[in-house]
Amino acid sequence: MSLATHDGPPPAHKPASLDGYVELVGAEEINELRALARRLEGKEIQMVNSTAVGGGVAEILNRLVPLARDLGVTIRWDVITGGLDFFEITKSFHNALQGGPYQGKPEDFEIFLAYNEQNRARLRFDAAVTVIHDPQPVALINARSNHSGHWIWRCHIDLSRPNPTVWKFLETYVLRYDGAIFSSPDFSRQLPIPQYLFYPSIDPLAEKNRELEPEFIRQVLERYGIDPSRPILAQISRFDRWKDPVGVIRAYRIVKKYFDCQLVLAGGSATDDPEGSAVLEEVRAAAGDDPDIHVLELPPWSPLEINALQRAATVVIQKSLREGFGLTVTEALWKGKPVVASAVGGIPAQVIHKHTGLLAHSVEGTAYQIRFLLSHPDIAQRLGQQGRHHVLEHFLITSYLKRYLTLSVHLLAHC
Ligand code: UDP
Repeated sequence: MSLATHDGPPPAHKPASLDGYVELVGAEEINELRALARRLEGKEIQMVNSTAVGGGVAEILNRLVPLARDLGVTIRWDVITGGLDFFEITKSFHNALQGGPYQGKPEDFEIFLAYNEQNRARLRFDAAVTVIHDPQPVALINARSNHSGHWIWRCHIDLSRPNPTVWKFLETYVLRYDGAIFSSPDFSRQLPIPQYLFYPSIDPLAEKNRELEPEFIRQVLERYGIDPSRPILAQISRFDRWKDPVGVIRAYRIVKKYFDCQLVLAGGSATDDPEGSAVLEEVRAAAGDDPDIHVLELPPWSPLEINALQRAATVVIQKSLREGFGLTVTEALWKGKPVVASAVGGIPAQVIHKHTGLLAHSVEGTAYQIRFLLSHPDIAQRLGQQGRHHVLEHFLITSYLKRYLTLSVHLLAHC
């Protein structure tokens, strides 16, 4: 087993300034962040995850880290490395933890631990607060010594029905943390450590979410051969079976009998998800030769294209079978889009049925709700506006940063 670098180095964090957020969230909120940051002076916070690009965790850290630095917080972001064997095993854990079948081999646990051990030896763990994201690096808790700071496990995935074999193994490590953060009350487990609820968030000023010129959106549609004059249904997600892209195609086919619409399925891959290309093949096979289905394989870093496709969509779909939170839903709601999404994981916290979007439980249900929105554009528009307001109130990066800072201040006050 070699420690092949399956991932690039963490991205160079672009400088960011919190001043730009005053207009959106108010000066008081930003002043609170500054006051919390002052209380962390001289203390370091460390974030550790398994990919620098692709997926929701990297998306958040790419924005959170520079903003925390703008506040004067000393924050470090480390990305663990591992060979393909490690990421295949962690993906099988991920699938099993979200309730899928598990057919791993007994030695998988050894390989998992060996890679964690290599990363433990490679990285520095002397921060006042260390936040370990998701199962991949969970065993880094072995680096904890008597002089260590506080260790928090931040779980982003849907743990409501975990496979018992995999959860039992991971739990022995989770129990050794000072606390665990989950994205929904449904995911919390019976644990003897404190549990915290942090809804994930989006950055309204990031390229992924900022306003775009209509001309740029038009150019993106033209580049991909999408007709702006007919309704566009879009699901933007990694090609992952949990996102059910084939189910989206089936729902589209039902809608297509009533509306001359197009479907955009756009996504790239994440460096910690080796299954993407197989799922993409399944999607292409299901799409067949329908010229109105656009399966777009995006490069891992395409925020402006994603932004444009989300803004161009008539209806945004997120037909996940399991979902930690679904930042793609947050992004669509922020853009004022009507959303049809599955009632799973963290999605119902965002899509409040008939208030900020429509929920569905099946292919047929998804198709039904899309048809409803296409035939009631006024209601679709109102849901989108209410969705944007909901995101403003609850799911912006400033609230998320506040939670991390508050938790850190709290932990350090009780050490
Ligand atoms: N995303 C991306 N490129 C893609 C597909 C998704 O940058 O090809 C982004 C998407 O815009 C969102 C994040 O990756 O910000 C996905 O987060 P989500 O919580 O929806 O799902 P995850 O991939 O973490 O399961």
